[in-house]
Formats: sequence, C-alpha cells, structure tokens
Amino acid sequence: MLFGSRKFKKYRLMTPGPVPLPPDVRKMLAQPMLHHRTPEFEKTLFSALEKLKAAFQTQQPVYIHTSTGSGAMESAIVNTLSPGDEVIAVVSGKFGERWAQIAERFGVKAHLLEVPWGEACRPEMVERALQQNPRAKAVLCQASETSTATVHPIRDIAQVVARRPDTLFMVDGITAIGAMDMLMDEWKIDVLVSGSQKAFMLPTGLSFIALSEDAWKMAKTAKCPRFYFDLDQEKKALEKGGTFFSSAVAHIRALDVALDNLTGENLNCAIIRSNLMAYTTREAAKLLGLTIFSKAPSSAVTAICVPEGIDGVALRKHLEDKYNVTVMGGQDQLKGKILRIGHLGYITDEDLSVTFEALVHSLVDLGYQGFDRGKADEVSQFVEGCLKEFKP
Ligand SMILES: *Cc1c(COP(=O)(O)O)cnc(C)c1O
Repeated sequence: MLFGSRKFKKYRLMTPGPVPLPPDVRKMLAQPMLHHRTPEFEKTLFSALEKLKAAFQTQQPVYIHTSTGSGAMESAIVNTLSPGDEVIAVVSGKFGERWAQIAERFGVKAHLLEVPWGEACRPEMVERALQQNPRAKAVLCQASETSTATVHPIRDIAQVVARRPDTLFMVDGITAIGAMDMLMDEWKIDVLVSGSQKAFMLPTGLSFIALSEDAWKMAKTAKCPRFYFDLDQEKKALEKGGTFFSSAVAHIRALDVALDNLTGENLNCAIIRSNLMAYTTREAAKLLGLTIFSKAPSSAVTAICVPEGIDGVALRKHLEDKYNVTVMGGQDQLKGKILRIGHLGYITDEDLSVTFEALVHSLVDLGYQGFDRGKADEVSQFVEGCLKEFKP
C-alpha cells in the first residue's frame, strides 16, 4: 500500500544541483534548433547576458562558458593569475579543495585556510592568513560550500580583502546566486562564478563568470595558459556581436527565460523562497529529532545528520529505490553520515513534504527506533503549514 502510494510514484529530484526544471524552461529546451550566428539568436544571447548582470548584482559584463561550474572556477584562476603567484584558499569542504587544486595545477601556490567542515570561515581568519601570506594575489572562497551545506560570511570577508588593493576576492557563488544575497559590486567581490544547474534552474552545462575592474586589470598581465576559457577573446567576440565558439543555443535560450525568475523583484522572491525552504527543512528535521550538520546552514541545501546506528549510504539509496526521492549523501569524511537535501530550483511544497514522509518511512524500514510511521503525517503537515505562508 505504502510503496504503491501515488505520491511516491512521482520522481522527486531533491539535490543541490541538478534541480527540477520549471515548465517554461522545459518548453524552451524543446524548441527547434537555430544557428548561433543569426540575428534571432544574438538577440536572445544579449538579452540573457544583460539579465545575468542583474542576477550577479553587477554593472560588469557576465560571461558564459559552455562548461559545468568547475569550468568557471578554472576560468577565474587562469584569467587573473600567473604561475608562481600565491593565493589563499578557504577550504571547508570538497569545493574549496577543488579550487585550491585547480590553482596548484596551474602553478599557483595555494595557501590553505582550513576551516572544520560545517563551520563558517570568520573574517579574522582571513585577516590573519593575509598577514601571514602578504604576497597573496587572491583569496578564494565558496559562498555556499555545497558539500557541507554551509555558508561563509562573504560580505564581511570581502571587507577584509578590500583593504588590500592588490588582492582579489574570488567567490564561488555556484549554489549562492539566486538562493542568498550576493551583491558583487556593493560587497566588492572581484570574481564571481556560478553554474546553470543550481538556482538558475537549467540543465548542467553552462557556467558564468564576472570580473571587477581590478580583476580585469590583473587579467592584462595574467600568464596562466588559457585558450577555451580566455575571457579577453570572448569579450572581443561579443563586441563583434557573438560568442567566440559555437554558442550553446538551447541552453542559452532557456537561460534567457529562466533568468526572468532571478532578476528584479523575482530575485528577492527566489531568495525568500529558498530561505523559507531551508528554514522549513531544518525545523522538520528537528521535529523528527534529527540534528542539522552545519553550524552556519546554507539556504540552498541542508545537511541532516544520519542518526546513530543507521547506515547513511543505505538510507540514501533506499529513499531513491523505494520512494523515488533523490537526495545526496556526504563525501569523504562525511560519507554515510549526512543526507543533503537541496531546495533550489522548481521544487513544490509537496516535493518537500513528500521527501520528509519518505525519510520517515525509510528510517522505519531500516529499523530506526526513534519514531513510528505515524510521524510521516505529522511532519508532512508541518512542512506544508510552514510553506503555505509564501508562494513564489
Ligand atoms: C555544483 C558546485 C560546483 C561545480 O560543480 P560542477 O559539477 O562543475 O558544475 C562548484 N562549487 C559549488 C559550491 C557547487 O555547488
């Protein structure tokens, strides 16, 4: 009866990227192909580029790479730095590790500012790291470290970095833009990157990057090798009316539509909705007697600790196999210990409430003693009650 229940027949994608796509985006993706060197497509391209500036809260141009988010992280490094340069990399999870690795691969020395997983980097830590490494040309930091569902205080860290005229502040905003305030110009972020499969509600495959004036100045002398990700080349091509390589026409047409949800008043709505989703997820977990992993929880994704005695890897798989709900587990030191529920993208109230019902049933299925199946109704009513307050 339970497994056959209709609500568990619908597939629910509850990860911090990729995310479910809104109907207007899916409709756009199904349109007949157009060539990228046509006036019709170019109009769409420049419309999307203009809206991206609003999503990034910047007056600077935002560039599109046909790559996943990591491509924009690489682009940030190769366009602004030279082999032999030094940077400070905030490492508090997998994505922080990745950025430091990319820098090292290009011969840039990354001084690691290691923060325990699940904790926020404090501005004083960055201040100290800058004193210890006065040659640092940049500070690299995730806004929302997706692997631990933790946010870092970007605005405050930016103030510390801004006191050093020759140090850039580079921010991985991949799960932050569209889920929390990220005011590139006002906060003085020098390089900001994001990716399409997160709050942009598109398939994986596009990444975005914007550089401040200071970052562009550094780009002039940056000697890291680059070809595909050379932003100067892309800038010149756009001045002539198109992209340097073939444009990802289908994705960019969909981006232009999706960005209507992330510009102007809608951007604020998306952020409020994400915050409410995150709050509801945390409170629903507490209602079940479960604990939240992060000490500075993100509004894009929530990490719930797997209760003692339950195998988190088996739990994640069971949710998917029996209840059609995909969430993410933990990686490395967190493997089997947390479940990460994404609340970006086109997620309905019902998606979140059914996810919690499925979690209750899955835990009971795996022998958890903390509650019985009756808790499923209680938690789903709680979730729907919380979310009723705000419809996007
Ligand atoms: C998803 C994500 C990335 C990039 O991942 P890709 O798989 O390359 O798209 C980078 N940083 C953060 C914080 C992310 O959430």
